[in-house]
Amino acid sequence: MKKESYPKKININDPLMSLTFVGSGFGESIIINLGGKLLSIVDCCKQVAETDIKYNFSNIFSQSIKISKNPYLGFLLLTHPHFDHFQSLHKLVEEYGNDFVKVCLFNGITEAELAEIYKEQSKKLNHSVSAYNQFKHYSKLLNSLDNNVENSRRRAVAEDSNIFTINVEDKNGKKYDFTIDAIAPSYKNSKKFLSQAKFHNFINLVQNDKKLEQLGNIISVVLLIRFGKTKILLGGDVTSKGWEEILLKKKDDLLDPILVKSSHHGSTEGNPEQLYNEMFSDNHSRKKCKVIIVPFYDKGLPSVKTINMFKKYSLTYELTSSLSQKKDKKISSRLQNVKNIKLVATSQNYYKTFIVDTENEFSNMTPSWALKEHL
Ligand SMILES: [Zn+2]
Repeated sequence: MKKESYPKKININDPLMSLTFVGSGFGESIIINLGGKLLSIVDCCKQVAETDIKYNFSNIFSQSIKISKNPYLGFLLLTHPHFDHFQSLHKLVEEYGNDFVKVCLFNGITEAELAEIYKEQSKKLNHSVSAYNQFKHYSKLLNSLDNNVENSRRRAVAEDSNIFTINVEDKNGKKYDFTIDAIAPSYKNSKKFLSQAKFHNFINLVQNDKKLEQLGNIISVVLLIRFGKTKILLGGDVTSKGWEEILLKKKDDLLDPILVKSSHHGSTEGNPEQLYNEMFSDNHSRKKCKVIIVPFYDKGLPSVKTINMFKKYSLTYELTSSLSQKKDKKISSRLQNVKNIKLVATSQNYYKTFIVDTENEFSNMTPSWALKEHL
């Protein structure tokens, strides 16, 4: 593995990028692969049984590294402090922590502050098993960060953070820009979150109190990826308060993406109609775009209302799988009740890879370095 910092310029054979969405029905992980040369990760949920190596996310990621043949590891990002996004992140940090050029956490609450809250609350945890488990995993992540990631590699990410800017040149000498920017959380929302988090305890924040749980989502990182003319939006779990700020300040950045990772597992809070209304300049760009939904079955997500809204805007959507046939069936039948909807569930797949070119189009070519969709 290359440990030196990433070069400002990368040569690739074919001007293609892949995005692999791994869903388990209760969380998500995303692998971004630039031309087989630069690999990054956004979030990491737990897969099914950890003993089942096939479904283990770090195994899927290792496979990506192997077929990409010694790529740079760009960044590892946790979008927000919720269970379904960090449950297995500590494992990746243990394995690759110092190989990533940057390890990024959402802005709003520092590791030290979290550790402090954890220390204060640890004695009170016994009464709530699920909250305890959530916290146990978070403290594992904090320990992994301390033990495996140099301070210089850590970043707090907020609305104006540029994570990467790289010049890319293909085999024909054509040049492209590759940038990844965070467009959320806003400093305003981060501040609000922090004051609430200090006031309440972190357990309540992530687990018990509905309102506080939502507050955890308003500090979710939203990423905008640009590769040549291609635009991709990864919505994290940000909810309407976060989108409001983005629409206020960065409306132009949102225009005409080819791929959108629907925020918050397709909830109505995470997918305000105004956002999708503003996102496309015309019907053509709207029809071209694909929305990816990583469901959260136990919370009844995605919501039927959101799916109907996608239909209204002629948006094609795809669901990642829950890895459980029973749960997949349940969601399929729930969504099939939505009028005039053709369900495009990825059913049995445990991950789904999309390949895009520099012209804001999907590519039919599957390069040797991209994970092929598992069937
Ligand atoms: Zn989530």
